[in-house]
Amino acid sequence: MIIVLLGPPGAGKGTQAERMVQKYSLAYISTGDILRSAVKSGSPLGTKAREYMEKGQLVPDELVVNIVKERLLEPDCARGALLDGFPRSVSQAQALESVLSPLGKKIDRVIHIDVTEDELVARLTGRRVCRECGSSYHIKFNPPKVRNVCDHCGGELFQREDDSLNTVKERLAVYREQTEPLIQYYSRQGLLSTINGNDDIDEIFARIVEILEAL
Ligand code: ADP
Ligand code: ADP
Ligand code: ZN
Repeated sequence: MIIVLLGPPGAGKGTQAERMVQKYSLAYISTGDILRSAVKSGSPLGTKAREYMEKGQLVPDELVVNIVKERLLEPDCARGALLDGFPRSVSQAQALESVLSPLGKKIDRVIHIDVTEDELVARLTGRRVCRECGSSYHIKFNPPKVRNVCDHCGGELFQREDDSLNTVKERLAVYREQTEPLIQYYSRQGLLSTINGNDDIDEIFARIVEILEAL
């Protein structure tokens, strides 16, 4: 089973993905997480990706598509995979089809989490992320039990550099221009389920579970 999470930055994709992966034991593929760890390790990929990520722009397709292609060949993906943050443009969606089809796979469902822009800005600027496991928290909406400490692994929480107000605005503009066309693209293929992502985390998860159970 291949599931895609689609939605603007701050929609709650990572938050929901954590719960989905736990319940359905899907392999988790977050291009954002993979790129951030490449930047941290200083690998050639990280060195190339860094300047785009800092500005809130998309990393070029040739880098990102390869990451996903290789990741999908790993054994844990045989049972199914959850894609978070990829595809992010029509060209990436087409590339994904060319990667999946020789593997005899296809996308089963695209879950689109829809959130108003004011709410996105509030979520992103208050987001804190675990340095160790990548779990996402919010200083007001989803605080950890102990301030600045991850509930899951005890890791330290930090604020992503690209969650500053200026970069957030650029990321939202990039989303509107390059990613939003995917809503129509997948809707035409009959693959899209849209969820109101302004609700609380548990309600959204319950709706995702309904969608997945129907497959
Ligand atoms: P994305 O992966 O889509 O960029 P995240 O899952 O990291 O989004 O969530 C963005 C921020 O919003 C985080 O600080 C997270 O704790 C918070 N958040 C996620 N879902 C909700 C929700 N339903 N209501 C309020 N805040 C949320
Ligand atoms: P968010 O969901 O909060 O926007 P991500 O962690 O998914 O953040 O992505 C962070 C950054 O990593 C993006 O702003 C972009 O620079 C880069 N990135 C992640 N996924 C992709 C992708 N599929 N294509 C191009 N760039 C990507
Ligand atoms: Zn953690």
